Amino acid sequence: MEVVFSFDTEDYVDPVSNDALKGLAESHTRHGVPACFGLVGEKARFIRNCGRHDVIEAVSRHEVGYHSDHHFMQPDYDYEHVFTPEYMERESWDRGVARLISEESQGIHDVTEIFGARPVTWLRTYGDWAPQYLAAFERLGIGVFAYGPPFHILDPQPIWYCNQLIIANPRMSYESNLHREDMTAEEKLEGHRRAFLKHLESGTERLGIVTHPTRFISDIWWEEPNWWDGIVPAPPRERWIAPPHFTEEKIKELLWIADEFIAFVGGLGEVECKTFRQFWETRRPAPGWMGLDAVRQVAGQIRIMGTPCAVEIEGGTYLSPAEAFGVFVFALANPAAERIPIRTMFGPTEEPHDTPVDRDAPHDDFLADCRHLELRLRDAARVPHLITTCIGAVGPGAFLLAMANALLADENDAVPVRTTENMPPPLHDGDYDTLASRAPCSYIQKRGELDFARTIRHSQLQYWSVKPA
Ligand SMILES: [Zn+2]
Repeated sequence: MEVVFSFDTEDYVDPVSNDALKGLAESHTRHGVPACFGLVGEKARFIRNCGRHDVIEAVSRHEVGYHSDHHFMQPDYDYEHVFTPEYMERESWDRGVARLISEESQGIHDVTEIFGARPVTWLRTYGDWAPQYLAAFERLGIGVFAYGPPFHILDPQPIWYCNQLIIANPRMSYESNLHREDMTAEEKLEGHRRAFLKHLESGTERLGIVTHPTRFISDIWWEEPNWWDGIVPAPPRERWIAPPHFTEEKIKELLWIADEFIAFVGGLGEVECKTFRQFWETRRPAPGWMGLDAVRQVAGQIRIMGTPCAVEIEGGTYLSPAEAFGVFVFALANPAAERIPIRTMFGPTEEPHDTPVDRDAPHDDFLADCRHLELRLRDAARVPHLITTCIGAVGPGAFLLAMANALLADENDAVPVRTTENMPPPLHDGDYDTLASRAPCSYIQKRGELDFARTIRHSQLQYWSVKPA
């Protein structure tokens, strides 16, 4: 069984949390068990500003991941003060992504500067994971979305979605019993061992062990006295306070449970402890090109399927439907090109055009449409929701299939353009319904208050970027 330990590392109000963090990192080092510490940018600055070089050194021996700049609160007044997902729900995709890139680049910069390594993993913040976050993080060099979107939270098969490597699996946590008053430390440890062995015996392929270091110092969340009455407006920094924490002995006892448990897991021969960065290193995409024959093979497969879909190419890797779209446009716009680039592509960011179509486009005019589209695609890097063609407006599904037809046709053959499904088939039955049934953003103060209809639709449209990893 593979095991990934990860820690949402976020308490930036109580210096005692730094000691717990150091203790956990040292336990992992001592027992040879790697872990991923997902740092909030403000937490990284807090550790540095507390002068804790020792904490930085202890954590740096493990994967340093990312957990947003401020835990999606807004203590800075450079931006409009609304709950960030609310902003994205209301604004266009591009404005939402632009704000996230602007705010999150600071956190990624600071974590990199303080810990000496640029994070490649985002540990999801709360239940929040809107696809705009993934797009922004992709632009900032993050490659792994840990814990996954709702349609892929237990399946250990890594996939790509929004150009992020999705590493999901069943999870357990120290937090299930850490604060119980009616159990001794030994009983809590025994509870963790039993829960772990149950996974091992039942054949869980990969287990995530997910915890917050701050839970080892207090049973009150660090945000509670500061932000739970409302992040809008956020309290100024001078008013941030730490909730009461446990005694030194109690903290020691809880860290002892973790230390014993880490030793136990590390000592099992059938367990392989991994980090998210290791998954990234074996799967990170290399810049790629395809020859025209290979592109035609992809066109043939998509034509057989009759719908946008992911297609396996050489070397056991896949093109997402969005990537296939980009490859087809380039190949048709540049018929003399020997090498066709495989480009990072997102799905449509507006509702796809879905008027029925049943026409034949003259071959040369269709190629002219592709040349025109290629110029738009170069920096947009997304599947358009509507393509203006010589026979009128066409949706992305119909245009993808028409391009497949054009790639396989003889020169001068008219290109059939037919009504086609605009969305790729789901990897598992019900994926689209799963996305529709759960709000991507569930900030604790706003639970149930906000309707995220647009964000949910965005999460479905980005199914164009799904492919096996
Ligand atoms: Zn968190």
